[in-house]
Amino acid sequence: MNALDPSALRPLLPSPLEPAEDERFTRHGVRLLLKRDDLIHPDLPGNKWRKLAPNLAAAAGRPVLTFGGAYSNHLRATAAAGRLLGFPTTGVVRGDELAGRPLNPSLARCARDGMRLVFVDRATYRAKGDPEVLARLLRDAAPDSFVVPEGGSNALAVRGCAELGRELGAAGVDVAAVACGTGGTLAGLAAGLGAGRRALGVPVLKGGFLGPGIRDLQEAAFGGPSGDWSLDERFHFGGYARTTPALEEFAADFEARHGLAIERIYVAKMLYGLLTLVQEGAFPPGTALAAVITGRPEPSQPPAPSR
Ligand SMILES: *Cc1c(COP(=O)(O)O)cnc(C)c1O
Repeated sequence: MNALDPSALRPLLPSPLEPAEDERFTRHGVRLLLKRDDLIHPDLPGNKWRKLAPNLAAAAGRPVLTFGGAYSNHLRATAAAGRLLGFPTTGVVRGDELAGRPLNPSLARCARDGMRLVFVDRATYRAKGDPEVLARLLRDAAPDSFVVPEGGSNALAVRGCAELGRELGAAGVDVAAVACGTGGTLAGLAAGLGAGRRALGVPVLKGGFLGPGIRDLQEAAFGGPSGDWSLDERFHFGGYARTTPALEEFAADFEARHGLAIERIYVAKMLYGLLTLVQEGAFPPGTALAAVITGRPEPSQPPAPSR
């Protein structure tokens, strides 16, 4: 297989856009559509494909070094790409306390796919944007690597996600909603949607610090602001990978109604946010509202706190 060409992996693109019959939305005149990015590729689902593919093309077969937390979907996708396309991968993992302990299922999967795991303390991880820290990490780990930032979000990735926006714009969607970690997917989605359409981001991390990062990503990718986007910060449920009984109940019910497995860390929070907004009357009747299904549940998700 050609390591220079991720399209050799035969992604399902454009991803399907499926109407979802849901009376809780239709009652308010809103047409709910599910943008099935989770179906793009079994090992590189969702926005991970859209962000990684242009980076792997740029890496042109060189080893790839990237960053993530202990349950990072991005690390798993990068490791899988390395296995499938035949290039070496290094994952710099946040938390040196993890070194020497049994790997969690997510990191074990990365290791099985051939990823070399380097555990660093939190201070070093935070400083990874510092050129000296990065140079030292590279020298110690994999000197000639192509570096992909945390979460895979850089200018190439954001331009890759603009294609998601173009697919939704061409389908006539008025509002497109996506869950946000780094916000790279939202930055690209908003830019690709086209005039008269808007993007809505639901951050899953607590803190309300995402806006400036999204503006920086758009600046890097497009030279300035692009498209109409906003964030609704109310649906983080306590922070990354946190959940509540109400969220869990909502997600299980959505799965039963729509026959679709719901990823809990990102997708469930975005869908919960959308239902709340619809009930608040946030969308005029006639709105075509697309929910981007950015990923699939993994057996390696951290266990939910017991109720
Ligand atoms: C990584 C991920 C996101 C977040 O994407 P960003 O571009 O970092 O905002 C959303 N949903 C799923 C399922 C993910 O794996």
